[in-house]
Amino acid sequence: RAKASGRDRCAVFDEAMREQALQILDLEADLRRAINGDSFIAHYQPIVRLGDNAVIGHEALLRWRHHSRGLLCPGEFIGVGEDNGLIEEIDWLMYAQVISRLSVCSAGYISINVSPRHFRSDDFADRLLRLIDAAGADARRLRIEITEVALLDDVPRALRTLHLLRHHGVLAQLDDFGTGYSALSYLHRFPIECLKIDRSFVAGLTGDSRHESIAVVRAIQALAGALGIHTIGEGIETDEQRAMLRELGCDYGQGYLLGRPAEQMLPAESIALIR
Ligand code: C2E
Ligand code: MG
Ligand code: MG
Ligand code: MG
Repeated sequence: RAKASGRDRCAVFDEAMREQALQILDLEADLRRAINGDSFIAHYQPIVRLGDNAVIGHEALLRWRHHSRGLLCPGEFIGVGEDNGLIEEIDWLMYAQVISRLSVCSAGYISINVSPRHFRSDDFADRLLRLIDAAGADARRLRIEITEVALLDDVPRALRTLHLLRHHGVLAQLDDFGTGYSALSYLHRFPIECLKIDRSFVAGLTGDSRHESIAVVRAIQALAGALGIHTIGEGIETDEQRAMLRELGCDYGQGYLLGRPAEQMLPAESIALIR
């Protein structure tokens, strides 16, 4: 009996794995088809100065209008796109779209997300600069968001890329900060404009382990202060989190409390409405 039920469990497991594999294949086929159309769109989430809630920029977030499943967030398909390299093509569609909107949007800058592998690719910076040039856009209004992994696995190359972009006006912000290596010794070597404090610490500020999160945010603020760079708190959902971040010295914030990602950007000088 034990054996039989073991085999049953195994059969169920196999069936689930098969199902999952088929779903991934489906998704990959859909992704390939979608690349020729206009199914990838940018949503924009405001980035706000915590002192007065003024909108200082937006982060562009990738969305896929799937023909049958509706609007998908990156978490639902980006893994599949990364495994086969499709994400880079999708990223370029996304970046072109964002750059074409730079002149329309009046509020500060727009930041785009660049995956580590994409950031490492040979012509990333040149291609981005060509795209900006061809659109007649102002490079100073575009920023890139990268994670620590992108910096550390090939330091000389990362330095070259960042300096080239910065020379032309494109600044970089470090995304999800605190979750990676957070090796304090390397940071000063890179031209980084801003650290984005990972959402998990912001959520933690009001949770059970608040002391740890507060300690982490304090440490990040001290580091940023010493290096003369700004911080953005990610994933602010409550007024309490916003108030605590401000108290801890965080300059800017982003999160559902301050504005959800949307197709339309908020105008310059607008003040985010706190619900
Ligand atoms: P990220 O760059 O850290 O972006 C922030 C994520 O947090 C976004 O998820 C955003 O919708 C979500 N978020 C914002 N405020 C809140 C909040 O208050 N609470 C909660 N729970 N979540 C909040 P999204 O749009 O699903 O994107 C997930 C990740 O996908 C991004 O994380 C980024 O790493 C990646 N991504 C987004 N757009 C692109 C893109 O164009 N290209 C590439 N390669 N990756 C992208
Ligand atoms: Mg980001
Ligand atoms: Mg982030
Ligand atoms: Mg994140």
